[in-house]
Amino acid sequence: MSAGRVFIVGAGPGDPDLLTVKALKALRRADVVVYDRLVNPEILAEAPAGAERIFAGKAPGAHSCAQEEINALLVRHAREGRVVVRLKGGDPFVFGRGGEEALACAEAGVAWEVIPGLTSAVSVPAAAGIPVTHRGIAGAFAVVTGHCMDRDRLDWEALARIDTLVVLMGVGRLPTLTAQLLRHGRPADTPAAVIEKGTRPGERVLTGTLATLAEDAARAEIGAPAILVIGEVVRVRESLGLAMDAAALGDVLSAVA
Ligand code: SAH
Repeated sequence: MSAGRVFIVGAGPGDPDLLTVKALKALRRADVVVYDRLVNPEILAEAPAGAERIFAGKAPGAHSCAQEEINALLVRHAREGRVVVRLKGGDPFVFGRGGEEALACAEAGVAWEVIPGLTSAVSVPAAAGIPVTHRGIAGAFAVVTGHCMDRDRLDWEALARIDTLVVLMGVGRLPTLTAQLLRHGRPADTPAAVIEKGTRPGERVLTGTLATLAEDAARAEIGAPAILVIGEVVRVRESLGLAMDAAALGDVLSAVA
């Protein structure tokens, strides 16, 4: 029997061109693809036509965590000798439960490999012109989830002091998040951004301050998937925009001359 194995693969933030070469190679060899809700259909289309496609996503807010079923599914298909690609948005080990799946494979004695992906936590801000670190402005960043913000005992005091705070799954709890940061000493005029559908068609970027962002995002009806960035680095986007426009104009003018 051929050797089955599980590739735990990151699909990147959404733009199919941001898939890694290694992810694409694995996908093209797949017998079975077990994919999440955030995976772009164009990426899924790279799997062989005959590959079995299994949707294993959860709708936002649906907690019915079938993680154990997913683990069992991966193990079962690999044991039957198939090449299984477990395809996840971003990087599989960043709020992706990829670690649990790797452990399940290891415990079952099934061969597995992780293929890292571009995490949305860094690539979505980058694509929107926001560097998560910037010399003289931000020397550290933290990535947190807003998912269980109300229940989790997050160390708000510490989070309020991090130069750049990136929040995944936080758009539904934006008012809680901004209120907590303000309460723990983050200044109200701290620049803040929300990026919806980063690197995908229909991407929207909203910038403001910690004091205004929750209201602005609600008014604009920003929905998932979206990333929040809080910190001075948000200003870099505006500076870059001006610089890019000026450079583009310069090119056009010199071409005309
Ligand atoms: N493993 C993934 C994160 C999974 S959690 C990664 O490394 O990127 C899912 C959350 O990621 C979403 O709720 C959203 O906050 C964020 N996200 C993923 N893709 C995104 C995109 N294209 N634009 C904005 N946010 C995105």
